[in-house]
Amino acid sequence: MTVVVMKEGATVREISTVLKKVESLGYRPHLSNGNGRTSIGLVGSGVAVSTEDILALPGVADVAPVAKPFKLGSREFRSAPTEVAAGSVVIGGEKIIMMAGPCSVESHEQTMTIAESVASSGGHILRGGAFKPRTSPYSFRGLGKAGLEILAEARRRTGLPIVTEVLSAHDVDLVCEYADIIQLGARNMQNFALLDELGRLTKPILLKRGLMSTIEELLMSAEYILAGGNPNVILCERGIRSFEKYTRNTLDISAVPILKRLSHLPVIVDPSHATGQRDLVAPVARAAIAAGADGLIVETHNDPDNALSDGDQSLTLPQFEQLMTDLRPIAAALGRSM
Ligand code: PEP
Ligand code: MN
Repeated sequence: MTVVVMKEGATVREISTVLKKVESLGYRPHLSNGNGRTSIGLVGSGVAVSTEDILALPGVADVAPVAKPFKLGSREFRSAPTEVAAGSVVIGGEKIIMMAGPCSVESHEQTMTIAESVASSGGHILRGGAFKPRTSPYSFRGLGKAGLEILAEARRRTGLPIVTEVLSAHDVDLVCEYADIIQLGARNMQNFALLDELGRLTKPILLKRGLMSTIEELLMSAEYILAGGNPNVILCERGIRSFEKYTRNTLDISAVPILKRLSHLPVIVDPSHATGQRDLVAPVARAAIAAGADGLIVETHNDPDNALSDGDQSLTLPQFEQLMTDLRPIAAALGRSM
């Protein structure tokens, strides 16, 4: 793919001339604004591009090929960090964003108790699954639409935006009605039909790294959503499968700085699924923030021993409050707020 970078302060007219030129060559122009500059990606397969012809247009600063297989998600396409807004919460800015809540929405009372505690501890976004991907079909698979209704009520009560998972393309419109951020889980990272569906929305997407996926594969999945026209993608490192048995997954901590270097998209870490154990969540969470993550997604529960899913890795509500307290000085040391 080729990217046309406009000069700082290029006029609307100059930009529209480039767009027309790009379309006349048979490409779909993909716009991005950041750092006062507009970049235009040439998406699709048009005719060969003459660099000189485009450079000669007024307002054009540079015409460059993007060498990486991921294009719109790359730093080459857009050097400024992307900020994704969910309600009034911005992910990818200077503030570290904490998403917390139960693995599954189990009941009205459970969700309200947890949501109120997340809010009072200073959490920014409420998580909770209504459609749950479970290894066994006999496990609790979520409350479905009723769970989404409960999340919406928790948002009304606390003001916290909600992030919740979609499992199938069939449910995208339903989940979209309720969620502020749609989670695409690890098991669906390469569900290309679902990625295409999420690409036609503008709703923020939290894209989790697959259990056996490389960093490049994660970025290629993000590319599906971006190429579909949805620029609001948040990447999530949640651990990958390895031979190690003391943890549920192996957190790839270096994925955080690597993703930040390769991509302009926000990067968060899930220390709960990465470790699978409550007592490992806090140390790993601290490491993730220190490594440069833009936020965390953490499972919390009012009664983890009786949780219907992932109780072993869920923090108690006081433990989450303590984690918030412990992370603030780390954030401050990095020049970030929480
Ligand atoms: C979850 O967030 O509860 C979940 C199922 O996560 P993952 O897709 O990372 O396993
Ligand atoms: Mn879970």
